[in-house]
Amino acid sequence: MSTPLQVFDQAHIWHPYSSPTPALPPYEVTAAKGVILDLADGRQLIDGMSSWWSVIHGYQHPDINAAMCAQIERFAHVMFGGLTHEPAVRLSQRLLSIVPSSLAHVFYCDSGSVAVEVAMKMALQYQHARGETQRRQCATILGGYHGDTWHPMSVCDPQTGMHHLYHDRLMTQHFLPRPRSRFDDAQCCDEDKNALNDFFVAHGERIAAFILEPIVQGAGGMWFYHPDYLRHLATCCKAYGVLLVADEIATGFGRTGQWFAVNHADITPDIMCLGKALTGGYISFAATLCTTEVAHTIASGDPGVLMHGPTFMANPLACATADASLQLLQQGTWQAQVQTIAAHFNDTLLPLRTRDYIADVRVLGAIGVIELHDAVNMAHIVPRLVAAGIWVRPFGRLVYLMPPFVISAAQLTDLTDALIGVLDGLYA
Ligand code: PMP
Repeated sequence: MSTPLQVFDQAHIWHPYSSPTPALPPYEVTAAKGVILDLADGRQLIDGMSSWWSVIHGYQHPDINAAMCAQIERFAHVMFGGLTHEPAVRLSQRLLSIVPSSLAHVFYCDSGSVAVEVAMKMALQYQHARGETQRRQCATILGGYHGDTWHPMSVCDPQTGMHHLYHDRLMTQHFLPRPRSRFDDAQCCDEDKNALNDFFVAHGERIAAFILEPIVQGAGGMWFYHPDYLRHLATCCKAYGVLLVADEIATGFGRTGQWFAVNHADITPDIMCLGKALTGGYISFAATLCTTEVAHTIASGDPGVLMHGPTFMANPLACATADASLQLLQQGTWQAQVQTIAAHFNDTLLPLRTRDYIADVRVLGAIGVIELHDAVNMAHIVPRLVAAGIWVRPFGRLVYLMPPFVISAAQLTDLTDALIGVLDGLYA
């Protein structure tokens, strides 16, 4: 039985990637605390998704709540054109102290997709300023996902993304094969490296930037590839004057077991996009960081400014929230928490590889991925997951977990026990 609120929602409100006339009503959340979501019907769910990678410290963390309340008492927003404020400066100081050291300039914006738009504009303006006006396209790898606005869509996987609907209206970009070498393989295979070599020989002089999700491809397939691939790519980019753009929107802030996924390969990108967990999942906010070389080259060219300036750029409330989230991360407990989650996933999920209905299982940091042979039927699986007391939202053949870092050992066990029970009940 749908509640009046659900009935109105279904009739009038869009949800992510959904029909305006959805078959299933969305579940109504009335409260969220720690890793627990309270539903209107009284059920409580353990959150296995961190609200799409973002709520790393759990819901209603007292320090972040306090930082937001304090900033609201000062001012929630002020335009950033010609003005600045302490939350923006404090957050930038903190951010620059944790990202790879040659990143030195921060551009704040509203969402991950916009951060990618900004990164692509930075890359084109940089190449333009250098007189490399033939460099108009970007390159990327298949299986990637970079957001839903126009230019990010052009570098999403053209088959698995929504790209095919728009393909003749998007900018044409270059796609390389998805790296085959898994994160924990002994080494990156020659085939992967040669694909990069061949591509750069053929197109390296005409590419503005190579954009990819470092180490973990998220919404495009939850695939973890070898750090040496990233190292080799960084070398190729440098040799050919191509900017390397790391989209760390999903991977940033500890999720993979390192502060940033680029740290697994010990490389510094020219441009880096951050979002999602930047505010501990409290509020939409993102940042595009670049090196001094990129920033100053843009300044030296025509028109000498970066032509982007969102109304809510560096929103003080978002900056104060992000700063509080970073302070919590800097206390360092996240490292042990992520290791505990990884160890639990290794113990409980990896043995599932022997199940007939499971094609693959992958674990990295606080991410556990179960890849099935066939796509799940959402209408079947989601109500069963909710009935089992967990919030997990599979897509396609992928059922994956990335809980808030603060999840307890008992909750972790409940989460994986419930998930395995539902999967076995449906498919074994
Ligand atoms: N890049 C990556 C790697 C992402 O995972 C996402 C969001 N899923 C985006 C970009 C887009 O971010 P947003 O949804 O905040 O626009």
